[in-house]
Amino acid sequence: MMIVTLLTLGSGCGERIADERGTQARCDLHDVELQEGVIPIRYGYPMFAPQEIEGVKRFPYANTFRFGGCMTTSDSPKKARIRFCPKCREEVAALNREYARTVLIPVAEYRDRVQTILGEEAFLNVRSCIHYTKNQAVGFEGTVASEADLVRLKLLAEAANPPQPLIWDVKIIR
Ligand SMILES: [Zn+2]
Repeated sequence: MMIVTLLTLGSGCGERIADERGTQARCDLHDVELQEGVIPIRYGYPMFAPQEIEGVKRFPYANTFRFGGCMTTSDSPKKARIRFCPKCREEVAALNREYARTVLIPVAEYRDRVQTILGEEAFLNVRSCIHYTKNQAVGFEGTVASEADLVRLKLLAEAANPPQPLIWDVKIIR
């Protein structure tokens, strides 16, 4: 009991940090010395953005987060002490900026543009949505009352210059 108390006090405010520094001292890619840092551990079923997966594959020493698995308990560590390569981190940050510029921002701007269209009475049961499984593609889902409404919606949606692909899941309910 005494030992448990001491361990808890020893880690500052009671937060446990997993030591995952390993033995690697240099980055294989950039031939620079790895630095020490503390990163968050993610639990559960994480949604990885495509550029995160690419970043982990191409720049393994960026080490910006850890995946802790699906099971978590109250004393699972929330953070890990690791080693990372500053050059790998720069490359991952560049990937993230490129992904925001080419995918996230165009999708967000398109959803803003179509708000007016979706305000029309015929399209009150239609929403714009983001498909996370398809590289953050934007799409429409919901229902309209007629084939003519659906045709008109598609014309307006295409005219607003959507990022491609545009994904449709709008049904006609009479
Ligand atoms: Zn590196």
